[in-house]
Amino acid sequence: MTTTTDDTEQAHEGSCCCGRVRFRMRGPYGTFSHCHCTDCRKTHGAAFASYIGVRRSRLEFLQGGSELGSFTTETGTRRQFCRHCGSSLTCTVSSEPDEIYVATGTLDTPLSLKPEYHIFIRSRVPWFDPHDGLPQHREFAE
Ligand SMILES: [Zn+2]
Ligand SMILES: [Zn+2]
Repeated sequence: MTTTTDDTEQAHEGSCCCGRVRFRMRGPYGTFSHCHCTDCRKTHGAAFASYIGVRRSRLEFLQGGSELGSFTTETGTRRQFCRHCGSSLTCTVSSEPDEIYVATGTLDTPLSLKPEYHIFIRSRVPWFDPHDGLPQHREFAE
C-alpha cells in the first residue's frame, strides 16, 4: 500500500452531531486504529472507537470551544466531548501528552488514510469479531 504525501499532510475538518463544535486538523498524522477498550466502547456507545493521532498544535477548534466538556479516566486518559449533544471528539493518553487522538467518525472531509490495526482486542464485545485482515493486539500495539 502506498500513501502519498498529500494524504498524510492533508487538512481535515470535523464536527459534533449538533454542529456547535467544529475543528480542523492538519497532518502529519500518527497512528490510525480501532480501539476496543471498555472506555472507548462506553464513550462511543459502540463496539469500538476509531481514532487517528495528530500533533496537539495541529488541531484547532474553529468554533464551539466553550461547548467542550472533558472527562479523565482513572488511567489518565482524557476525553473531550460536546456538552450539548454528547459526541465523543478527542482522546489524549497520559503517556503521549503532545499527541491528540481524534475520533475519525466525526470527520466531515473524506479521509483517504486507512486504519492500521485493532487494539485492546481482549476487551472486545462477543458479538463483533473483526475480519478485515488488520493486525489485532490484545492491548496497546507493540
Ligand atoms: Zn454537539
Ligand atoms: Zn480505547
